[in-house]
Amino acid sequence: MVESNQNGAEMQNGAGAKSVKAEERETLHEVIVIGSGPAGWTAGLYAARANLEPLLITGDDYGGQVSITYEVENYPGFPEGLSGPDLVEKFKAQAERFGCTVSYDHVTEIVVDEHPFTVRTAQEKEYRTKSLILCTGARPRFLEVPGEEEYTGKGVSYCATCDGFFFRGKELVVVGGGDSALEEGLFLTKFATKIQIIHRRDELRASKILQDRAFDNDKIRFVWNRVVTSINGNENGVVSGVTTRDTQNGAEGDIATDGVFVYIGHLPNNDLYHGKLDLDEDGHLIVDPSTRTNVPGVFAAGEIADKVFKQVATSVGQGCAAAMQAEKFLASLEAEGLPDLSEDPRAWPTPGVPKAQADLVAAD
Ligand code: NAP
Repeated sequence: MVESNQNGAEMQNGAGAKSVKAEERETLHEVIVIGSGPAGWTAGLYAARANLEPLLITGDDYGGQVSITYEVENYPGFPEGLSGPDLVEKFKAQAERFGCTVSYDHVTEIVVDEHPFTVRTAQEKEYRTKSLILCTGARPRFLEVPGEEEYTGKGVSYCATCDGFFFRGKELVVVGGGDSALEEGLFLTKFATKIQIIHRRDELRASKILQDRAFDNDKIRFVWNRVVTSINGNENGVVSGVTTRDTQNGAEGDIATDGVFVYIGHLPNNDLYHGKLDLDEDGHLIVDPSTRTNVPGVFAAGEIADKVFKQVATSVGQGCAAAMQAEKFLASLEAEGLPDLSEDPRAWPTPGVPKAQADLVAAD
């Protein structure tokens, strides 16, 4: 078998020759960032500017959830707003400008009980790294009712930006009462003639500004105190309606619709971490205020660890903090050697912060 070495020269496998995999195994990184949402790109940017030559592995869902958002209006610095995909490209360009290397690959396994840590990918690459920043984000929660799986792509969708265009002149149902349901419901009014937003309570979770816009929009009608119990189709194999149950009196009802957009929250993408890192009861990584997980040298930022704020702006801040903490960890590795990996660093004073202040940070 013939392969190229780093200088482009061909060499034979066998005695004295290294396979590509062996070379990759020998590539020891200072920091690897997993995930390409706002937290990941910011961690990549800050690590690059700290001369750590980060490798960012994008994951299959390039750009994360913001990349399927039609318009981002509340990320500071862009007073006119911009599209989610445009914002992702700006994040990426800025990180690459300072030397962040991007790999379009998906991580399938991490090993964090021995140092350097190991990262394995779907493209059968294997990397070793002194520190890790986990920014794997979250994915949409499913309704888990009959018909949902069957009609996904045939009228059921989780992405108005991707699929809204196909519902020009149609009637739609949106499920949920949070910011996503209202924001995406408003976006869908560009295409649909009527949107019914089905919410399980009679009070919205969404921000006031979105509520006002939705209430003012003639195409939007709210269906209160109802949950969807099944999604139904017609003889053409596409969505024709939903069955609902009244949460107050249990009464069943049917609503005719051409499509169902589901926005009922998110689940953290934590497949890589079970049995390896501390997760809370909802599956988020448990980090301290300075983004440290329970393994020294492993940090987490964005929605994989944040169950409260979940904003682009907060994810960016957490990605920045994680990279700064990784830098401090690498400096301490150099100066003091490897800490005991079974020690929980979340109990340590924040690196670079005096003990008294560290206690204040931890108490927040
Ligand atoms: P969310 O805030 O968690 O809201 C989920 C909604 O779905 C809630 O109204 C919830 O009802 C409902 N729900 C949950 N499970 C359900 C079920 N099984 N059946 C029926 N309804 C169900 O999720 P999100 O709207 O996706 O927002 C996530 C985060 O991103 C939030 O922090 C939000 O502020 C942020 N975000 C911000 C913006 C923006 O600032 N422009 C845009 C999008 C998202 P209950 O209210 O009864 O719990």
